[in-house]
Amino acid sequence: SRVRVMELEESPDVTFKNVGGLKNEIEEVREAVEYPLTRPEVFQRIGVEPPKGILLYGPPGTGKTLIAKAVANQANATFIRMSGSELVHKFIGEGAQMVRDLFLLARERAPSIVFIDEIDAIGSMRTHDGTSGSAEVQRTLMQLLAEMDGFDNRGDVRIMAATNRVDMLDPALLRPGRFDRVLEVSPPDSDARFEIFRIHTDNMNIGTVDLKDLVNITENATGAEIQAICREAGMFAVRRNASEITMDDFQAAISKVKNKSKSDDIMY
Ligand code: ATP
Repeated sequence: SRVRVMELEESPDVTFKNVGGLKNEIEEVREAVEYPLTRPEVFQRIGVEPPKGILLYGPPGTGKTLIAKAVANQANATFIRMSGSELVHKFIGEGAQMVRDLFLLARERAPSIVFIDEIDAIGSMRTHDGTSGSAEVQRTLMQLLAEMDGFDNRGDVRIMAATNRVDMLDPALLRPGRFDRVLEVSPPDSDARFEIFRIHTDNMNIGTVDLKDLVNITENATGAEIQAICREAGMFAVRRNASEITMDDFQAAISKVKNKSKSDDIMY
């Protein structure tokens, strides 16, 4: 059903405390998305229009969806997520209608934040997709552009999108009045990795494991990989029937997650 492709959450339970690092990114998103919803009078008083849409880009698993959910929570807004790739692959022939429904729903449930994940699936310059046909994808994109153009950005619906491939996006999406703010979400540096490990081990019994040691052996890990590492380390401890997680558990978890990421890469 449509619920699969459109995920709706009344004020998600993710908060900024669940996000490690990304301080500047969070500040930018609050300015573009949260403040126009919570303090519209300031924008009116100063006479400045908030940005219409904000596009987050960066590698998978770096926290783009997480930030969007946290900002929805902070603004007490309904979070409506649509996946561009699901839209293209599961709703062949219905893409444009789905986009129309998405914006209708967003207005009905306002204040709301529309989050279009993997927007490159509908907004790429070239379509690699064999199954859906590019004319259909093109119609879906046209509908999205029309919805954004017909949209009052002083209103109580805000639009966010995310992609891993900003270089492939149709420039039409990035024109003023559309996604006119573009924000890079980078993989975590060591301070951010420390915070992410802290967040994901918060309820775990990690005994004497030093998070700094974990930070030093996970140089290229993303937030999603760190989350997976913590969960896998916990699972190793569970299998041992242990009372706490050890450094060995974490090391085993890191190899497991690293190998998984490697085999995923080969599939791309
Ligand atoms: P994709 O491009 O694959 O959609 P994304 O950037 O939207 O990825 P998220 O869905 O936000 O990534 O991240 C997946 C999970 O990884 C989150 O639910 C969270 O548990 C963890 N995670 C990612 N980044 C962070 C972070 N900065 N702080 C804490 N947890 C994180």
